[in-house]
Amino acid sequence: MIDRFEITILAVDDEPFMLKLLALTLANLGYTSVKTYDSALKVLRAIDVADAPPDLILMDLNMPEMDGIEFMRGLVKRDYPGSLILVSGEDERVLQAAEKLVQAHHLTVLGYLRKPVKPEILAATVAKWQPAAHRSAAAAKKTYTAEKVDAAIANNELVNYYQPTVSLLTGHVVGVEALVRWRHPVDGLVLPDQFIGVAETHGLICGLTRRVIAGALRDAKSWRQEMRLALQIAINVSMDDLSSLDFVDYVSGETDAAGVSSKNVTLEVTESRLMQDLRVPLDVLTRLRLKRFRISIDDFGTGHSSLAQLRDLPFDELKIDRGFVHRAWADETVGAIFDTSVLLAKQLGMQIVTEGVEDRADWDFVRRSRCDTAQGYFIARPMPAQALHAWIEDWEERALTVA
Ligand code: C2E
Ligand code: CA
Ligand code: CA
Repeated sequence: MIDRFEITILAVDDEPFMLKLLALTLANLGYTSVKTYDSALKVLRAIDVADAPPDLILMDLNMPEMDGIEFMRGLVKRDYPGSLILVSGEDERVLQAAEKLVQAHHLTVLGYLRKPVKPEILAATVAKWQPAAHRSAAAAKKTYTAEKVDAAIANNELVNYYQPTVSLLTGHVVGVEALVRWRHPVDGLVLPDQFIGVAETHGLICGLTRRVIAGALRDAKSWRQEMRLALQIAINVSMDDLSSLDFVDYVSGETDAAGVSSKNVTLEVTESRLMQDLRVPLDVLTRLRLKRFRISIDDFGTGHSSLAQLRDLPFDELKIDRGFVHRAWADETVGAIFDTSVLLAKQLGMQIVTEGVEDRADWDFVRRSRCDTAQGYFIARPMPAQALHAWIEDWEERALTVA
């Protein structure tokens, strides 16, 4: 257990006087490990090279070079596991809106402070800090070099786990999403967030995707033989996959070889970085659709998957990001984004999947919505292929009790 006075604090504000004041006040309160920065960019750079991220960041919302909202996006991208306190001279409503936004991104916010910051309010807000249960795991979370990831692909160390999706209308299982894991000989089961990024930036993602596709179709074939079930198989694809013209031939070749119908294969697309030229992805996606594959826009609402993509690309399905599903019934802003996404998808004639249905309250909420299918920990966590049969039998019984 860390002594709360030993927590590492970082304050960022473009006004040097404000920074001095904050540092002094914190020191007077007994917090000795405080660093100050005059720009958010510098903070992100510091986090990138540090051994561990700070436990707590006090951030000004209005900064000239990179504002607080952009800064927050940078933190989300880095999976920042610590807590945040927002500081601003703006009025209460702006601060409240910013706080909601930060929470919707699953960052921990202890509260907001209006300038001029009162020492007793600062003290009370900082005192709310608690070590996140997952902080030690997140700090231990390592990323791997491209060589290591490349070798893992070549040595067949990647395996597919599968997370079921169920119909909100009937409660029946409709499909599974393949989620890749690395069975690391030393580190155990490694989650995709720790190696997909590396694979994407080092040109390894196409090889990885092909392994995932081949594995998923193999498993689909054996489920069909074992359970007589034609499940919808969803695969996550990167923009890089869609930037190679032979992707269509690869997918349709594998699908045919496994005796799976293209209608039962969904390709989930997220844009992880800005695409300059959409011509090749458009060509590839359009041909996939002509071959009756289903195309889904993943993580809708997160900024990576946006309106511009809906306009430009031919999607059949929209997956509402879990940030706008979990607790959407409790939070007005999250609920509003949820409702708008549903309306938009319905108007465009798309099927809707809700991600992140974590508990009974989320489940009851999405059951009342006009969405088609749901996915999330309340239904099932991702599982190895061999576990699916037994899970389906369990679920079919449980579905009767939660319907
Ligand atoms: P995603 O496509 O948005 O997948 C959903 C992620 O949310 C999965 O994490 C899943 O385990 C998690 N999840 C599911 N239900 C819940 C819930 O109720 N609550 C919460 N908090 N989380 C839930 P996972 O498996 O760690 O995958 C992370 C991301 O890695 C995926 O996000 C996807 O973008 C990427 N990824 C996974 N497999 C592949 C792959 O084969 N290829 C590519 N390109 N990306 C992949
Ligand atoms: Ca997905
Ligand atoms: Ca998602």
